[in-house]
Amino acid sequence: MNNRRKFLQHLTGGIAALPFLSLNSFATTGAEASGSSPELPYAGPVLRVAIMGLGGYGTMVAEAMRACKKAKLVGVISGTPAKINAWQTRYHIPEKNCYNYENFDKIKDNPDIDAVYVITPNALHKEQAIRVARAGKHVICEKPMALNAKEAQEMIDACKKANVKLLVGYRMHFEPKTLEIIRMRKAGELGKVQFFQGLTGFAIGDPGQWRLNKALAGGGAMMDIGIYSVNGARYMTGEEPVWVTAEETKTDPAKFREGVDETIQFQLGFPSGAVASCLSTYSMNFLDRFFVLGTGGFAELQPATNYGPIQGKTHKGPLTALHVPHQTVQMEEMSDIILQNKTPIVPVDGEEGLKDLKIIDAIYQAAKTGKKVPLSG
Ligand code: NDP
Repeated sequence: MNNRRKFLQHLTGGIAALPFLSLNSFATTGAEASGSSPELPYAGPVLRVAIMGLGGYGTMVAEAMRACKKAKLVGVISGTPAKINAWQTRYHIPEKNCYNYENFDKIKDNPDIDAVYVITPNALHKEQAIRVARAGKHVICEKPMALNAKEAQEMIDACKKANVKLLVGYRMHFEPKTLEIIRMRKAGELGKVQFFQGLTGFAIGDPGQWRLNKALAGGGAMMDIGIYSVNGARYMTGEEPVWVTAEETKTDPAKFREGVDETIQFQLGFPSGAVASCLSTYSMNFLDRFFVLGTGGFAELQPATNYGPIQGKTHKGPLTALHVPHQTVQMEEMSDIILQNKTPIVPVDGEEGLKDLKIIDAIYQAAKTGKKVPLSG
């Protein structure tokens, strides 16, 4: 994640000065990964997307979408007029597809936008996603989808009521080496899964950023990076946890104020008897490792969740699947999920986001009370 942060810091240095990445070299691998032929022009449906929140990650998604065939950036929603202007030029976005946070409900009258990708600070996701749903547009929302399970449920209900799809930006669910381990686990090649270890963290910089503001972030490292270990524990074991224990440590209470977790160690217990041991932190760099162990073998990824290339091996040898830009493949796949009702190997719907937030709620409760917290599984 350190590299990711450095990359994002670089990107957010000012849009006007951005040395925008060329993703041309990714186009072929993106097409391969999405199963479409690099030779034949794509003639199927295209998901027309507006990005809400033109920050570091929004910029990365926009650049990655240049290589998409099945998804196209057609609109923006932003509180910063200068960014809107820059994005209009950069991505050929017409004035009629530009909105701000006050007027974006009007998107309901715009037939040229199918979906809105919400990429704003965590605390804004719920209200923004619900407004998008009420405007009749499909919602793609960044992780964590909300601040807690109650909010996530409200978003799911609103999207159901509006008859639109709700997806969460879980890019690792489309990552080839991750999917190879999941395939091996499902095929029984790891035997009976007994243990998962998830270590995710990075040393966070600027103390003034929204990620360290509870009102905007909803917590600390757990909401931002620990969620990868929570999510990974579920897709690597293939089970839902039935209990949680957790311990929190803080070395810098001035930077990590009340309600903003710096480091949490947590353990999960699964119905089969498998256990997970995880670490979420904002104070250690190079922490990005998954390990899954079964009676028949093991698999490990390091890095496991950064922008890649993801590296890994199993008891059978190195994982060799090609790296593809995560956000390109994610948007290609999400186009198929939204427009063609494709079922992904690992779900990316609102229910999936809700499951993670139920566990995170329980982790916070366990860390606070020091007690083992049961989950309904
Ligand atoms: P940034 O701070 O870089 O960008 C957030 C953008 O949100 C801002 O640039 C701004 O855009 C908009 N915004 C609206 N209201 C506010 C506010 N009150 N304070 C700050 N920004 C505001 O954050 P990131 O892009 O890094 O993160 C955004 C979301 O994406 C988070 O939920 C994060 O967890 C997620 N994320 C996911 C990643 C992944 O790999 N899946 C990686 C990184 C982030 P504008 O000026 O256009 O209004």
